[in-house]
Amino acid sequence: MSYETQPTASHYVNGAYLEDSAGAAIPVIYPATGAEIARVHAATPAVVEAALSAAVEAQTLWAEMTGRARGRVLTDAARIMRERNRALSELETWDTGKPLQETLVADATSAADALEYFGGLAASLTGEHIQLGEDWVYTRREPLGVCVGIGAWNYPTQISCWKGAPALACGNAMVFKPSETTPLCALKVAEILTEAGAPAGVFNVVQGMGEVGSLLVTDPRVAKVSLTGSVPTGRKVYAAAAAEMKHVTMELGGKSPLVVFDDADLENAVSGAINGNFYSSGQVCSNGTRVFVQRGIKEAFLARLAERVKSAVIGDPMDEATNFGPMVSQRQMEIVQRYIEKGIAEGARLVAGGKRLEREGFYLEPTVFADVTDGMTIAMEEIFGPVMAVLDFETEDEVIARANDTAFGLSAGVFTRDLSRGHRVIGKLRAGSCFINSYNDAPVEAPFGGVKASGVGRENSKAAIEHYSQLKSVYVRMGDVEAPY
Ligand code: NDP
Repeated sequence: MSYETQPTASHYVNGAYLEDSAGAAIPVIYPATGAEIARVHAATPAVVEAALSAAVEAQTLWAEMTGRARGRVLTDAARIMRERNRALSELETWDTGKPLQETLVADATSAADALEYFGGLAASLTGEHIQLGEDWVYTRREPLGVCVGIGAWNYPTQISCWKGAPALACGNAMVFKPSETTPLCALKVAEILTEAGAPAGVFNVVQGMGEVGSLLVTDPRVAKVSLTGSVPTGRKVYAAAAAEMKHVTMELGGKSPLVVFDDADLENAVSGAINGNFYSSGQVCSNGTRVFVQRGIKEAFLARLAERVKSAVIGDPMDEATNFGPMVSQRQMEIVQRYIEKGIAEGARLVAGGKRLEREGFYLEPTVFADVTDGMTIAMEEIFGPVMAVLDFETEDEVIARANDTAFGLSAGVFTRDLSRGHRVIGKLRAGSCFINSYNDAPVEAPFGGVKASGVGRENSKAAIEHYSQLKSVYVRMGDVEAPY
């Protein structure tokens, strides 16, 4: 890593890098080689305290600034991120192993979109006036206070900004804890926010594992917790936040259905299934990993899919020709390998991939199983890797019932040329982020989030404002006050 790219210490607190080597060492492993490329230290209680007290102090001043002034800081940060897109994308690739071909267009750029969007909204966050005869009520949209963001490892730059940008636009301060697997990128986001004029303490980053997250979540000074992670972690964090009646946003896992009717455009449906299963080596929460294909198109779909998957360019993520990289860690690779073994053992038909690549790093082949049935483990559990399960179906009613028969509800997609059917089916699928004749688009303008076990609240769009602010209503009496005695 070049000097310019690499963060210079483990934490970013009160507007500057901060080190405390008393915290447990966390090695940063480059997934393409398995080599240690950096080392950070978990936050000690002293670092957590410094971050929280800096955030408390900064938040009051930040909230007193006009929305326009706050917005300018965010949009300036977006501009700096775009100018440094290449260096930030390389850092994202070092941190996650995702190919540069992806990180150049999906990470710092998506983070910049969020900073720009919420920077633009900051000046227009208003309350309302409600006339009641002579009296009236007005509402003030107020910040929540100090918010904690906790990130997963698949999109470290994007996640820090999907949480940080709306939080800051509304006048909150944030303490963000990245996943221990990908600790580097959020530090650069903090550095850029400072450079763009964010007052010290408004956005802090502390490293650590679950214990550090847990210290942050339970601190009485914290008003809100936004987590991106798995359902089991979500349950723990939600419960801890509920004990103190804190606000939450939970962006959790999924096992989303992608339904391909036999009138679909075959090439587009295959593209949707590839994007919805193999982008970022399948490490995307909203992936459509249960691909329901109607019997009439099934064999054509599988043949074309197997052919196209063969042409994936798997290799060095820093080579811009590579479009399929390693898994984020050895641990995640082994989890996915166990699912592949289960798929074979339970009788699914392997039509592509299935193996680890014979090279250094944590590479698995893009893998497709056909003849998957609803009760198989690979059709029920979130794998979070490049494993697509193709299931057959006959009728619309049948596929809707089967697609909904899951505890999750993050995303759903439908491919069909019959647009009334597309809207009808999407209307009946219980999921938060849906697609018709597409898959996995996540523009900042659209609400993003799940139903059922997949989460609570929405990120992005105007909807996120509701989750990072609260309304105060003020009744104003114009005449005398009547009282019974
Ligand atoms: P985890 O749930 O393991 O961890 C998420 C974060 O929570 C990490 O930073 C983790 O720290 C932290 N954490 C763990 N335990 C606690 C605790 N008790 N209190 C506070 N924080 C805690 O998820 P992964 O990082 O493995 O990410 C993969 C998961 O994330 C998948 O299930 C995926 O579906 C989901 N995801 C959801 C998205 C969405 O928007 N819906 C987007 C991306 C991923 P550490 O790991 O450092 O110990």
